[in-house]
Amino acid sequence: MPTLTELRQFARYHLLRRAHDHPAREQELGVVSLGYDPAQFEREVRAFDGAGFTVSERARVEYRGVQRGIFRALSSNAGRARKRLLILSGVHGNEHAGILSVPRALERFRATHGDGDRVGLCVLTPVNPVGAAEDSRFNAQGYDINRDFVRFDTVEARVVRETMDELRPDFVLSLHEGPQDASFMFANAHVDAALAERLLLALEAGGTKLATHDYFGSRLRRPGLSPSSRAGRAVVRLWALSLSMMASNAFSEGRGVPELVLESSWRNPDRAERLRAHTDLCAALCDELAR
Ligand SMILES: [Zn+2]
Repeated sequence: MPTLTELRQFARYHLLRRAHDHPAREQELGVVSLGYDPAQFEREVRAFDGAGFTVSERARVEYRGVQRGIFRALSSNAGRARKRLLILSGVHGNEHAGILSVPRALERFRATHGDGDRVGLCVLTPVNPVGAAEDSRFNAQGYDINRDFVRFDTVEARVVRETMDELRPDFVLSLHEGPQDASFMFANAHVDAALAERLLLALEAGGTKLATHDYFGSRLRRPGLSPSSRAGRAVVRLWALSLSMMASNAFSEGRGVPELVLESSWRNPDRAERLRAHTDLCAALCDELAR
């Protein structure tokens, strides 16, 4: 269980769009690093270019003279596919499982759906490349990108918006991690409850442990799921009006698009387990959209 100090700090994550003026490293919440190597990751993602995907650089961001790309991997069938899934990977830079799982997710998609016309896939990764390289939640200017979907002050949030405009996805999945002890997902108001249940069963079948409590310590009625609620939506509206803060799942909700936000445990030192929740959910969601 997180301590009160940790929870207090975590609450701060939800009240500031810009918590720092640089990509600060915050270790108080017990993030276990998975050892992210930006150059190696870029090579692995680019290897999919021309092999079932088109990989392109959508924007560059700079920190201390080093430029880093936000990449888009778009499946070759996306133009003709009946449904399109957009995956946001690494909006919070130090939540590495959602980034490192991408090559495996692309492989699984290509093997299962790459030749079909039922579901197409677009992955933006890492949405926060400076944070990913600096082991920080924040971008080069210290912004929390996942609070910037009202004002779009950050390049990173603007790239997400542009991608949403171009792709017009049928579903969005954002890959995150948190300080709780197992995995759960936030669902926005457009996520069908029966679909969410089938996805949870798929996660469990793959061996993913589902959290009984979210990272605020609230008990989840269905382990692994924090569904949209009227009270939650009221808080989100207030948050946007008073603090000009909005996360990607509320932005999607406003556009009528279902979004799930996966939160695996960043305290888990088992790399395979942490990545598995992400690759399994990507695969299960693609299978569902292909039905
Ligand atoms: Zn996050």
